[in-house]
Amino acid sequence: MSSVTLEEPVQKDSAVSPQITKSKKREEREQILAKFHKENLKWSNVDWVVLLWMIGIHVGAVAAFFFISWQAIVTCLVLHWATASIGICLGFHRYMSHKSFKLKAPAEFFVLLCGVLSGEGSPLTWAATHRLHHQKSDKDGDPHSPFEGTWWSHILWLFVYRSKEINDKFAEHYIPDFKDRPMIQFFEKTYPLWLVASGFAMFGAGYAMGGNYMGWSMLLWGLCARMAFVYNSTWFVNSATHLWGYRNYETTDQSKNLWWVAIVAYGEGWHNNHHAHPSVAPAGHRKWEFDITWWSIKLLRAVGLAYDVNDRIPERNATPEVDPEPGKNGIVVKS
Ligand SMILES: [Zn+2]
Ligand SMILES: [Zn+2]
Repeated sequence: MSSVTLEEPVQKDSAVSPQITKSKKREEREQILAKFHKENLKWSNVDWVVLLWMIGIHVGAVAAFFFISWQAIVTCLVLHWATASIGICLGFHRYMSHKSFKLKAPAEFFVLLCGVLSGEGSPLTWAATHRLHHQKSDKDGDPHSPFEGTWWSHILWLFVYRSKEINDKFAEHYIPDFKDRPMIQFFEKTYPLWLVASGFAMFGAGYAMGGNYMGWSMLLWGLCARMAFVYNSTWFVNSATHLWGYRNYETTDQSKNLWWVAIVAYGEGWHNNHHAHPSVAPAGHRKWEFDITWWSIKLLRAVGLAYDVNDRIPERNATPEVDPEPGKNGIVVKS
């Protein structure tokens, strides 16, 4: 695994240091963003941890069909909803990346925990990468545009290795508003441990219910099959909804609304709506555009755990939102 470093050493905390000029910041940002380009995908620069993890999860998902039990399938479905809809769609995406609403601390903890249990990486890297996607959507620099290859956008972009130093700098530029918050830092440092612990917990619970067979059944369905389903649903948002579907808004990217991705990805398939108005919490803007994650946000608001919810659904063909400061408030960022 080759080590990737910035070409020019930069002062610690440079993103917030007054001594560093704007042009230097821009230069540093360009160096970081270059690490997301497709040409970085080569055997000498593969993230083997991610690659082996993905192979293991998908092999486990196939093996799950040899260890079927109703308890494990119910666990799989409940955790699928909790990690994908609550953790990723509501948490990493609409809450962190776009700040569509605010959360009280207990809800924030639960939502972030669900997010890390999805196995989609650390909260800051997820949200910063997503903000970059909105900034460069379907243009040069988009981390996962299907116009650079369908498989690249679906999965291959995940296998490019980037050092911790690069990821930290990336977060400084793209998600400074969340970066130093203690709860976020807690999950940044501990997220692999939660995944390992959840695997042991799954096997242990199954073993207690019915020995080895149930242990494997719970582990393979509750972790491997569930994650494989969630991964592919999430990846369809990156690939399929930039290729197929209809558009309510004339955005500068190729985002589309695609009903079947809205079903498997808990509302995120209304992707043209979302690209046009990313700070709006509901992703479905028409009566038939069913968005199950929005129901959870409404429920959290009703019990006082979510507040300042941006629920203003725009007029048809309203001008898309633009925010010229990348990472400043997590809405749309202009190239
Ligand atoms: Zn998109
Ligand atoms: Zn988004």
